Amino acid sequence: MGTVIVKPGREKRLLQGYPWIQKSELLRIDAPGKGEVVTVLDSKNQLIGIGTFNRATRFQVRMLAREQVAVDREFFLNRFKRAIEYRKQLSIDSNGMRLVFSEADRLPGLIVDKYGDSLVVQVRSLGMEQLRSEWIPALIESIRPSGIYEKSEMVGREDEGLPSRAELIFGEVPGVASINELGMDYGVSFRSGLKTGFYFDQRLTRKRWREQIKPGENVLDAFCYSGSFSLHAAAAGAKVLGIDINEAALQQASENAKINNLNPSFELANAFEWLEANKSGPVYDWIMLDPPAIAKSSGKRDALKWAIWKLVYHALPLLKPGGRLVVCNCSFQLSLHETIETCRFAAADRGEFLSLEDITLQDADHPAATWFPESLYLKCVWLRKL
Ligand code: SAH
Repeated sequence: MGTVIVKPGREKRLLQGYPWIQKSELLRIDAPGKGEVVTVLDSKNQLIGIGTFNRATRFQVRMLAREQVAVDREFFLNRFKRAIEYRKQLSIDSNGMRLVFSEADRLPGLIVDKYGDSLVVQVRSLGMEQLRSEWIPALIESIRPSGIYEKSEMVGREDEGLPSRAELIFGEVPGVASINELGMDYGVSFRSGLKTGFYFDQRLTRKRWREQIKPGENVLDAFCYSGSFSLHAAAAGAKVLGIDINEAALQQASENAKINNLNPSFELANAFEWLEANKSGPVYDWIMLDPPAIAKSSGKRDALKWAIWKLVYHALPLLKPGGRLVVCNCSFQLSLHETIETCRFAAADRGEFLSLEDITLQDADHPAATWFPESLYLKCVWLRKL
């Protein structure tokens, strides 16, 4: 097995569980670095653990274990078992959930989402790619799915030297899968959907949202995707408008409304432009702002701040006094406090007062790992207009 040695002082964070090693942190390399498993040592030749090594990327080593163990089918069976047992004790009210959340389940570069009997996987690192012949059989043995679809189309793959891939890799999956979550039915297309098809991470926020909306209220759901917040608001008896820029998503949203016998309206529009152009005045009791991950790298932090500022600035005049605004930020690059601060700036620029009523995070099937701060990515702030 090849070996890499980290620079003096760089071992501390790794011994505390941090799973990534950058190129600049490596002192000596004795390995090809084509995604294979290597031994990771400190500068005194003490074992830190094992990880996969890819010379062609920035985060070159992704730690797999603290011990020198074989990374085989058995290894993955054990990791999957822990991940599944953890989700079982969460009693999630759904037949769809994230089963494996990459680094947070100590499986860097691997995402597994469950949709009924089907699985959708995403592979984000060359290391996980090279280990396919070990983890795919282990996944099949652990879960016995009827099919596995691979949806590896994210930006990060390019940096790892991997092409996009979207295809069936085992058994069969339905063209449109059916899931039920918090009493709502959804059709999900793995092929045309975003990410793996559904935003399971917003389950907790959906639950709180549903609990608070009252019959007759007026609700705007910007960035509605396949309609989850719109449907729950409609089911609570509200009058709802969902907006999204993606036509396929809106088609699915309308289909989902039909399946659940609900009647929200949907409109194809750019939410930024729609909000800015709308001169209706304060008519909404609730506005949900759930934009996509605008900042995937630290260089885009300002763009994200600006986007959130703009959304809040233009949403505020549409909100009734006492109305609630939920601002979601799914980018690790902008912290919770910076998100709140950005909302505060927008309110101040409008001469309005917003109070913070609640904060919701990604639901627990996307655990936030204390040893890996990047895994806490989704923060939703609940604001009330005075
Ligand atoms: N709230 C959704 C998830 C939102 S994901 C849910 O609960 O499922 C972000 C969504 O924003 C995607 O559906 C994407 O199509 C949409 N989007 C991206 N840019 C947009 C824009 N400028 N205007 C409106 N929608 C946009």
